[in-house]
Amino acid sequence: MDLGIAGRRALVTASSKGLGLGCARALAEAGCDLVMNARGAEALEAAAAAIRADFGVTVETVACDVTTPDGQRAVLEKARGIAILVTNAGGPPPGMWSDWEREDFIKALDANMLTPIALMKAALPGMMEAGWGRVVNITSMSVKAPIAVLGLSNAARTGLTGYVAGTARQVAPHGVTINNLLPGIHDTDRATALDEAVVKARGISMEEARAERAATVPARRYGTAAEFGQACAFLCSQHAGFIVGQNILLDGGAINATL
Ligand code: NAP
Repeated sequence: MDLGIAGRRALVTASSKGLGLGCARALAEAGCDLVMNARGAEALEAAAAAIRADFGVTVETVACDVTTPDGQRAVLEKARGIAILVTNAGGPPPGMWSDWEREDFIKALDANMLTPIALMKAALPGMMEAGWGRVVNITSMSVKAPIAVLGLSNAARTGLTGYVAGTARQVAPHGVTINNLLPGIHDTDRATALDEAVVKARGISMEEARAERAATVPARRYGTAAEFGQACAFLCSQHAGFIVGQNILLDGGAINATL
């Protein structure tokens, strides 16, 4: 399907690996020129070079921590005039409800709520003026059903979800859509890190930990970054202009709910 967005410029933050990279690659496949970001320059440059080679689009890179004000300034400077914004950042560490102090919450809120809000606040006026724009925030299935060990994520991402619910309706009259994509278990470094914590805590093997987690998913597997990216590209497409303020689960059926 022609997504109708060839030649549009897109910023994808936290995109050298995992789900962000899946989104960057799918947008490049649809013909978008990219601004990509991650903290580690080496993996970022390698990912950008592969995208240029595979899809022939222009890719600019900004190696910085997007959760800091300086990082956001650097990314936004390079991303002037974008029509598409995909927000992403690393997820908070797992733990117990009793572990977290104010500073831990501030870090999680900065990364997973206030950073996407700052990026949207900067990018939305240009999109509204142009009469066309797409924003996709990578959040988590934890906003629909809490993941107990990820209390920091549950809290911060739910705050972002509330902000998007109102804002999406305010910018929609200008041809701009904002939606959230909610990943369930996907096969990325983040999933491996969470599985390693289970291996350590329970003294089981990595294979056992992965098999146990996959068994909780009706699709009986982890999702892939490539299929996640294709869903993101569709939400950014010309065809998705009537999808506004939605929270779309990509979880292989893991959340057992009718709606
Ligand atoms: P990942 O495989 O660990 O990749 C994270 C990417 O983000 C890397 O490119 C990393 O590069 C970059 N990054 C991390 N922190 C950054 C920062 N502060 N500034 C700029 N770039 C940053 O993670 P993932 O699995 O794709 O997860 C992406 C998001 O989805 C996370 O918030 C995660 O919590 C959430 N999520 C994932 C799953 C899952 O199963 N994978 C499920 C639910 C929610 P550098 O380290 O070089 O910066």
